[in-house]
Amino acid sequence: MKIKFAGAAGGEVTGSKHLITFGKKQILLDCGMFQGKRKDAYEKNVNFLFDPTKVNSVLLSHAHIDHSGDLPVLAKQGFNGPIYCTYATRDLCNYMLLDSAFIQEREAEYLMERKKKKKPNKNIEDEEIPMLYDSEDAKNALQLFHAVGYEQSFVVEDGVVASFYDAGHVLGSSLVHMMFFDKKKKKHLKVCFTGDLGRRGIPILRDPQLIPETDILIIECTYGNRLHPPLQSAGEDLAFIVNKVASRGGKLIIPSFALERAQEVIYHLNVLRKEKKIPAIPIYVDSPLAANISEVFRSHPECCDKHAYDKFITHGEDPFSFENLYYTRSVEDSKALNTKTGPMIIISASGMCEHGRILHHLKNNIDNPKNAVLIVGYQAENTLGRKLVNGEKRVNIFGDPYDVKADIFIMDAFSAHADRSDLLEYISRINGLKKICLVHGERKQIDAFTYALAENGYNDVYTPTLGEEIEFDFE
Ligand SMILES: [Zn+2]
Repeated sequence: MKIKFAGAAGGEVTGSKHLITFGKKQILLDCGMFQGKRKDAYEKNVNFLFDPTKVNSVLLSHAHIDHSGDLPVLAKQGFNGPIYCTYATRDLCNYMLLDSAFIQEREAEYLMERKKKKKPNKNIEDEEIPMLYDSEDAKNALQLFHAVGYEQSFVVEDGVVASFYDAGHVLGSSLVHMMFFDKKKKKHLKVCFTGDLGRRGIPILRDPQLIPETDILIIECTYGNRLHPPLQSAGEDLAFIVNKVASRGGKLIIPSFALERAQEVIYHLNVLRKEKKIPAIPIYVDSPLAANISEVFRSHPECCDKHAYDKFITHGEDPFSFENLYYTRSVEDSKALNTKTGPMIIISASGMCEHGRILHHLKNNIDNPKNAVLIVGYQAENTLGRKLVNGEKRVNIFGDPYDVKADIFIMDAFSAHADRSDLLEYISRINGLKKICLVHGERKQIDAFTYALAENGYNDVYTPTLGEEIEFDFE
């Protein structure tokens, strides 16, 4: 059995793709979109490090675009086998992949307009880069999805049985456990791919589930060298910020990823409201994608944890709707928020303030000291979100400069990735573990985590480079 690390390996964190070759069969773990500079991203997302027509099946860990977003390209290039994932992941991908296609279609239209008006984009070469896929391509990929419940064993290929275990990272996320059987040697090899590993105590979601005996673990290490602040403080910190902004009649703008982070913030606000720790000011979720995804959360109570059941579900309450919480879908409703006065909370996408409705809210509110922006997610370098985190006092929005007079609050406690101690603790509980492959981490995170593993007695650790293929024996 061979594993080729064909994405999110060797220091990269997006574009998750690992190809397993077992006899004549090829199984792809994840098919994520590489995210980065437009030209680079295009090249990486269309030039697979394997032949898509030879892939027999895909096992998808979760719905995040950096794990699922290249599936339409895979299908476009000739893959037509099954894509196995959990029910919630399938339902989330319905929205996530179509939204990804929609963004690309809008971007292509915008670049075309600029070209027609002879107003070239500052990156002139961007105009020559075609989009990766459109809505039709996304729909074609969605036709290939096959949903399976957690802990249900299913035959992927002859001699390969897989099952999904809850990864506790986002709704529907799974640890993909596979058992390979070598008929000649009459031996099993058990491999598990973590996708993204969550942490204990994330609201709504169950804690990461322990996997059965595993020989080889392919594990992410996004935060292999970091320790997160405790999750328990998230509610209190959020209450403090909401009260501060509400008392001065301001608007609290929360840029948020539409999947998971938005629902976690809504959930926290609901709990705080129930406990009367924040006033009943209006809360607007101004993102059609976040609204759709909240619907998916509603239809998958089987993924929710005990806290969500005890607080809401067993009493017939919906955690994602409460008094004064509004989902705005239409552009008109979104624009109408500009004319409304505070206090209020606006949750909007994109999470890194790069595109979407959040830009309008920042533009209209960032120069007023009554208002505040709350950063709840990771902000990549060169994004507007990162500039706000860095404390820049003047930022460009839609090409015009704005003074940053609103307070900028940052909360790290929301991370949905295991940190170094979570990763080590999880690994220590796995029975039979022989080899570990580290993926999905920047170079320094991987190096530091390799060291941490060695300190804990794990010496058979691989840190594959991008495109490297490693052969594993049935011992
Ligand atoms: Zn993820």
